[in-house]
Amino acid sequence: MYISSRGNFHPVTASEAICLGMAPGGGLFVPEKVPVLNEKTISDMAGQRYGEIAQTILELYLDDFSGEEIKEIVAQSYNQENFDHPDIAPVVKLDQHTFILELWHGPTAAFKDMALQIMPRLLAKSVQKRGSAQEVIIPVATSGDTGKAALEGFKNVPGVKIIVFYPHGGVSRVQELQMTTAEGDNVAVVAVKGNFDDCQTAVKKLFTDPEFNSLFAAHQMTFSSANSINWGRLLPQIIYYFWSYSQLMHRGEISPGEKINVVVPTGNFGNILACYYAFLMGLPVDKLICASNENKVLTDVIGTGTYNRQRTFYKTISPSMDILISSNFERFLFEITGHDEDKISLWYQQLQDQGAFQVEDIYRAKWQEFLLGGFATDEETKREIKTTFTASGYVLDTHTGAGVAVYRDYVEKSGDRRKTIIDATANPYKFNRAVLEAISGQDLSGQKDEFAILEELHQVTKMPIHSALKDLDQRPVRHQRVIEKDQLGTAVKDILGI
Ligand SMILES: *Cc1c(COP(=O)(O)O)cnc(C)c1O
Repeated sequence: MYISSRGNFHPVTASEAICLGMAPGGGLFVPEKVPVLNEKTISDMAGQRYGEIAQTILELYLDDFSGEEIKEIVAQSYNQENFDHPDIAPVVKLDQHTFILELWHGPTAAFKDMALQIMPRLLAKSVQKRGSAQEVIIPVATSGDTGKAALEGFKNVPGVKIIVFYPHGGVSRVQELQMTTAEGDNVAVVAVKGNFDDCQTAVKKLFTDPEFNSLFAAHQMTFSSANSINWGRLLPQIIYYFWSYSQLMHRGEISPGEKINVVVPTGNFGNILACYYAFLMGLPVDKLICASNENKVLTDVIGTGTYNRQRTFYKTISPSMDILISSNFERFLFEITGHDEDKISLWYQQLQDQGAFQVEDIYRAKWQEFLLGGFATDEETKREIKTTFTASGYVLDTHTGAGVAVYRDYVEKSGDRRKTIIDATANPYKFNRAVLEAISGQDLSGQKDEFAILEELHQVTKMPIHSALKDLDQRPVRHQRVIEKDQLGTAVKDILGI
């Protein structure tokens, strides 16, 4: 069963947690008890296919799904129609100690596809299980990549409507075009004059707004979420941590039981939280490294215990990490405090009222045994992209570049030579301007045409252009709505005609 991190809702089954998205009064659903895998189960994963490992993990958490149902959904999600690589998420060796887990082989070229190819199927099945006749409305806040991945995953799914909100001027040109050219009868895309935090806060507010909830009820509608506040979005992300470990075992890079380090470029703390759950489930992880850009609220809270969102917001070359309110840190704190729902409620009330809260040293000491935080400036990220390309010919995107930069810095200071997995969260062509600047040393700030830059990056690196990004500039723009940040509710009503 799943419980609310703020203790304000009764325990629910997996399908209910997925349908609801979050606890109606605020709070996130978390598993009451994290299942633990024994060593043999983990070592047996060596050589298994992605889908097999997915089956093992999902069965442990989807209490009210049958094994057959899961099998069918896994097969429909993780296949070569949706992913352009037979491994789904290939593990690439960068050097003797460092491995890149490429999570961007799905239809939208970012790691969000790893979850958003399967999550709509889990949601549709969950709705069916609950026998509800209501239409499911999914407002999505995006820092750039979730939006397109959700539009793709939910496109034409019956009984579901999806409305994406992205920060106006806060995403790359490729990201913006991916969203504004989205097809499907059940999708809408809206630019918000604000940043990601504004979008996310407004969306979360809709969920808990009593007026909205009764209006929805009157129209046979209900909310759900495709953001990583939804357990159905986080759960599939646990799979690839076991998968990458199984690959290292299979190739003889590590022996069963050997501990590895994992580096995750982080924004909303979703991807890294999935790794933390894998760790709680028994995955041999020594250090979990949380990499940020200059919006380093997480580096600070991990190091000092103070979460303070009152600070300057920077627009960086890694926009999907330009986040100051990292929702899933709440789930992490819930686990670290041994499910202290009162403390979580208090801290998040303080965050809302005063913009900050302070975690006691006993908890910080607990996480510092395995969790480290670091950040890279745009300058440092670009330097790392260049260094890596020169050394190995491998092309990093700006988010992954920040991760590798933070990792190199850690190795230099610690001398830690453990085998390390670094998540590659996006295909470099999504952020071609900054990547080409990094590799070629040019200043492209005056140059407008992103697609000429994309082509030039291809000339320089010879890396194949991801199919999702080809011809993007030729497609008709279908969504042009721009709103003020306090107009989300009005836009939702207008789009739904209620
Ligand atoms: C979403 C995203 C991130 C941040 O992931 P979280 O789960 O929000 O921490 C990092 N890199 C890219 C490319 C992303 O799209």
